[in-house]
Amino acid sequence: MDMGLRGKRALVCAGSKGLGRGCAEALAAEGVDLVLNARGAEALAATADHIRRHYGVRVDEVAGDITTDAGRAPVLAAARGADILVTNAGGPPPGLWSDWSRDDFIRAFDANLLTPVALMQALLPAMMERGWGRVVNITSFSVKAPIPQLGLSNTARAGLTGFVAGTARQVAARGVTINNLLPGIHATDRAISLDGSAAKARGISPEEVRKARAAEIPAGRYGTAEEFGAACAFLCSQHAGFILGQNLVIDGGALNATI
Ligand code: NAP
Repeated sequence: MDMGLRGKRALVCAGSKGLGRGCAEALAAEGVDLVLNARGAEALAATADHIRRHYGVRVDEVAGDITTDAGRAPVLAAARGADILVTNAGGPPPGLWSDWSRDDFIRAFDANLLTPVALMQALLPAMMERGWGRVVNITSFSVKAPIPQLGLSNTARAGLTGFVAGTARQVAARGVTINNLLPGIHATDRAISLDGSAAKARGISPEEVRKARAAEIPAGRYGTAEEFGAACAFLCSQHAGFILGQNLVIDGGALNATI
């Protein structure tokens, strides 16, 4: 299916690895030029180079922490006039509900709520003026099924979900859609490192941890960044203009719910 995206420009945040990279590659495969961001300049340059060589699109790379004003400013300067925005950043650390301080919450809100909000506030007006735009926020399935030790994430991402629910309906008449993608377990560096920590704690191998976690997913496996990216590209496509304010869970059926 032709997504109708050739010649569009996208900002993909936190996109040198994992799910962000999956989205960047899927958009590039549709002929979308990219502004690509991550903190580590070396991995970012390697990913940008790979995308240029494989898909022949323009990739402007801007290294920096997307969750800070200083890191975000050059990214937004490079992405001025972008047609598509994919927001993403690392998730907050795990912990116990009784231990988190006000500062811990502020840090989580900055990263996983106020950063995507700031990015939307910066890029939505030009999309609305042109009468076309797409925003996809990478959140987490924990918005629907909270992970107890990830309370900071549960709280910040629930806030973003509320913001998107209202805002998506205010910009829709101008041809702009905003949706959230809610990943379940995917085989990215993050998931692999979580498997490693769990293996250490339980005195078993990371492979055993992965096998046990995969067995709890109806699909029987972890998701891939490629299939996650394909869903992102579809939501950004010309065919998805009537889908807005949605929270699409991509989890191999792990969330046991009827709707
Ligand atoms: P990942 O494999 O660790 O990749 C994270 C990417 O984001 C890297 O390119 C990293 O590069 C970049 N990044 C992280 N923090 C950043 C920041 N502050 N500013 C700019 N770039 C940043 O992670 P992932 O698995 O793709 O996860 C992406 C998001 O999905 C996270 O919020 C995660 O909590 C959520 N999620 C993931 C899963 C899963 O199973 N993978 C499940 C549920 C939710 P640098 O480190 O060089 O900056």
